[in-house]
Amino acid sequence: SCGICVEKCPFDAIEIINLPSELEQEPVHRYGDNAFALYGLPTPEPGSVTGILGPNGIGKSTAVHALAGEMTPNLGEYEDEPDWDAVLDRYRGTQLQNYLEQLIDGDIEVARKPQYVDQIPKQFDGKVRELLERTDERGELDYLVDELSIRPVLDQDIDSISGGELQRVALAATLARDVDFYFLDEITPYLDISQRMTAARLIEEISEAGDRSMLVVEHDLAILDLLADTLHITYGEPGAYGVVTDPKSVRNGVNEYLSGYLDNENMRIRPEAITFEEHAPRSATKGQPLVEYPDMHKSYGEGEFSLDVEGGTIYESEVLGVVGPNGIGKSTLAKMFTGALEPDEGEIDTELDIAYKPQYIEIDQPMRVDAFLSSITDEFGSSYWNTEIAQPLQLESIMEQNLDDLSGGERQRVAIAACLSEDADLYLLDEPSAHLDVEQRVQATSAIRRYTENHDATAMVIDHDIYMIDLLSDRLMVFDGEPADHGTARPPQGMRDGMNDFLADLGITFRRDERTGRPRINKPGSQKDREQKRSGEYYYSD
Ligand code: ADP
Ligand code: ADP
Ligand code: MG
Repeated sequence: SCGICVEKCPFDAIEIINLPSELEQEPVHRYGDNAFALYGLPTPEPGSVTGILGPNGIGKSTAVHALAGEMTPNLGEYEDEPDWDAVLDRYRGTQLQNYLEQLIDGDIEVARKPQYVDQIPKQFDGKVRELLERTDERGELDYLVDELSIRPVLDQDIDSISGGELQRVALAATLARDVDFYFLDEITPYLDISQRMTAARLIEEISEAGDRSMLVVEHDLAILDLLADTLHITYGEPGAYGVVTDPKSVRNGVNEYLSGYLDNENMRIRPEAITFEEHAPRSATKGQPLVEYPDMHKSYGEGEFSLDVEGGTIYESEVLGVVGPNGIGKSTLAKMFTGALEPDEGEIDTELDIAYKPQYIEIDQPMRVDAFLSSITDEFGSSYWNTEIAQPLQLESIMEQNLDDLSGGERQRVAIAACLSEDADLYLLDEPSAHLDVEQRVQATSAIRRYTENHDATAMVIDHDIYMIDLLSDRLMVFDGEPADHGTARPPQGMRDGMNDFLADLGITFRRDERTGRPRINKPGSQKDREQKRSGEYYYSD
């Protein structure tokens, strides 16, 4: 160890090019002796949207709390009473000076949407309408309620609505306020792509129309890229220290993040780059059919949700991406495959061994992670299992914890590991990206991809993160219909046709980044957007 990092070198697998020069200074904030330290702060820009991207535990919420004036940074002197004037002195002559002066003088108003919306019902007891009406400072609440489709739940109790509804209520409550600076600590959890796009559009609209400033922490790279003007990347050693970079253009920031190397900082943050295919994968030679399923129908009862499944074939050794809005029947189909639900009409060959990771993970046993995983596979602890599963899913540090003490993201990683550790014909993963930070998504994606390739395994992956779906899938299964009323599952098809069907339904087109080929969402109504819609090419260029 070079003595600078608190615990261990964050890049021990990697050649160290240099150390962040920020680490030579005192941090902006340190929580205590040998505790987490934050270096640098993002710069909210009046009238623009600033993004923050980085793993969990790296100080993003700490930075947000500080800039929102909810916590006074201590400049590393954790034993003394923190003092805003000292912070201002430190930042005099930088781009933050102006912001800090106004914050300290009380010349600006701020609002913050918390990261963990699940906590809101614990703090607020009442109807959705009551919570929202308190925040209606701009007289725009009705508009937000309609745009975010939360009118149907206005008269429900806050503690009775779903995660996706809670997220949209929290967004509406924050955006309804009349402030200069909005801090949005993650906007996409629990939302489907169309809801993510709506949230992004509203944030941009409000920022542009009122010259208001938005600071957005986000793990969905496609949405962040669409939404932000500038981007701060945060890197370091989660739980030990985090460094906030200077602002980058959002395009360069996301490109650098994916490449694993930060140019200005001369800093490698990951050994390997993440790359996208610009052209639809050539229809690869298919394996043997693994399962051929017929047309099926399932209804939850008179007047309840119903699902029609158009019959299709899943081939051996393919990864099938599954996409569609929330409430359209994706999990219902998954449960029909596992045999947990019986179709009313049609029948699936149940000879298959299926390893299933459900969307809502219930592993609340008082059992340790290592004991749980070793009960699933004899490979547990082998060097192969460690490299293929434990390492990319960052399980080492949580092996000795109890399952019922795990956070959402930790639980997700254990559940993905448990699923992949089973010996099965078909691996069925329902929303593996949920609760994962950006780096964990990248690692989980490569772990699933590598596992299926090395084992000629077949997988079905349901997810809303379009980059994850792109990087994982050989073919695509698209759902459409009317959420919560009825859904139709279309047969699996090639990536080009699948993406075109799915995105045409949503009205979203992607262009390619000129330098890296990475897909980028077109601004709705832009020239590229209109051209591509006319030619029917929503995703791949050719
Ligand atoms: P992020 O938002 O990037 O996930 P946070 O800013 O929430 O990261 O946390 C960064 C680190 O600081 C974490 O290791 C967290 O445990 C630690 N931390 C956060 N709040 C406190 C606190 N009040 N006291 C001590 N440590 C804290
Ligand atoms: P998705 O996975 O696409 O979000 P689901 O398959 O979970 O969709 O749910 C589809 C619809 O069926 C939703 O409106 C949901 O509320 C409803 N639903 C799910 N399970 C049941 C059930 N056991 N009884 C009645 N309705 C249900
Ligand atoms: Mg956070």
